[in-house]
Amino acid sequence: MTAVSTRSTTAAELMPYDEALSRFDPVLGLEVHVELNTASKMFCGCSTVFGREPNTQTCPVCLGLPGALPVLNAAAVESAIRIGLALNCDIAAECRFARKNYFYPDMPKNFQTSQYDEPIAVNGGVDIDVDGQPFRIGIERAHMEEDTGKSLHVGGATGRIHGADHSLVDYNRAGIPLIEIVTKPIEGTGRLAPAVARAYVGWLRELLLGLGVSDVRMEQGSLRCDVNLSLRPDPGAPYGTRSETKNVNSLRSVERAVRYEVSRQAARLATGRRVVQETRHWHEDTGVTTSGRSKEQAEDYRYFPEPDLVPIAPSVTEVERLRASLPEPPAIRRARLQADWGFSDLEMRDVVGAGALLLVEQTVAAGASPAAAKKWWLSELARRANDAGVALDELGITPEHVAAVQSLVDAGRINDKLARQVLDGVLAGEGSPEQVVSARGLEVVSDEGKLSAAVDRAIAGNPGVAEKIRAGKMAAAGALIGAVMKEMHGQADAGRVRELILEKLN
Ligand SMILES: [Zn+2]
Repeated sequence: MTAVSTRSTTAAELMPYDEALSRFDPVLGLEVHVELNTASKMFCGCSTVFGREPNTQTCPVCLGLPGALPVLNAAAVESAIRIGLALNCDIAAECRFARKNYFYPDMPKNFQTSQYDEPIAVNGGVDIDVDGQPFRIGIERAHMEEDTGKSLHVGGATGRIHGADHSLVDYNRAGIPLIEIVTKPIEGTGRLAPAVARAYVGWLRELLLGLGVSDVRMEQGSLRCDVNLSLRPDPGAPYGTRSETKNVNSLRSVERAVRYEVSRQAARLATGRRVVQETRHWHEDTGVTTSGRSKEQAEDYRYFPEPDLVPIAPSVTEVERLRASLPEPPAIRRARLQADWGFSDLEMRDVVGAGALLLVEQTVAAGASPAAAKKWWLSELARRANDAGVALDELGITPEHVAAVQSLVDAGRINDKLARQVLDGVLAGEGSPEQVVSARGLEVVSDEGKLSAAVDRAIAGNPGVAEKIRAGKMAAAGALIGAVMKEMHGQADAGRVRELILEKLN
């Protein structure tokens, strides 16, 4: 064994996943932080636009300057209530903000305005489907809080504070409204634990997208997931000690992090070691978690009610107005779309599992057939998203683009093979499908004269094949079509080429 630091985990410290699951029962817990897409921050008027110059979207309130007073963003409260209702939670008749006190450079006030014992939404639950198997996910609470700023550690090898020369802090994100959604312990998943975790976060993304309350861009951090996992010897046993893996920022990573923690904790428990209660960091590149902050001693955040904000007391009328504004519930929406599209249960499950429901819906709305929309999103684009480690809707291609590609195929201007090159061009930022086709010269040759001449050359060059076709062996036409396509560099409509060959030889 080569020298390893105490923080890394070697392969010997992992138990193969299947063995781990045959010996232990996993219990999951998922905490998802969602950045709301309000125009301004939670307690001030600063802009929330992502990606601006550091520290250009700040004011005395979100910088925590002495004497500055917060004013609550009504739009954020409405979004919080709508999220709570969509998760089938009870909405508190009255609730308060609290100060969570801790010291960290990216939190200028030295406390985070959050909710503690009085969250706005409690005790909900949602039904998700994993490989055709239904799972009920209980929702413990959804509460409001504000985001922190961002630290950038410069000069070290890892981008972490350890070994860095100095650190920079950007407060543009400080004070952006967040909703934290916490599940109840999720039991009974068995070996499906990683898939259940992924399916739930994917389901939640889709729900939040449908509600229009967040951009839910995992790669930009507007949806972040903490994965809690513990193992116990069997389903009836008390819960084991859990680890909390922070900021797992893609659906694929959620699945991998659960799988990794199952293998890691199982290896420890099987050799008589204990699982340490701690936060852990997820490493996207290596697919491992490493030890972070110990939570062996309960942290004392000295929560107390926020004195500068009045309690929130939404009226029944207000809550019912917001309930009426909710989109169609996900299960009903799925059933409706499945009937509209004529998809089988299995096809629909594939679409949902790929996180492509909304994308297919929008692609159909933009003019593509359901089958074509499903084909592009679930094959070519799913593969590219998987390669890039991002969700489908983070790929950088819109439903309108996909519908436009299909419409070019339907018009006979490109074939499927060229369509794949058009997708590549759009993904590379070369513009719309139409622009890519013209810039790359991808259009199929529709000039009948050119096509006819190429067919004539193919027939002349393959007299034996031509003779077979004349004798009625239509299957032989493939060789001539291939010759024409090769000469045209793939830029011909194979169907039309076939028609021309048969016309000329019969
Ligand atoms: Zn501000």
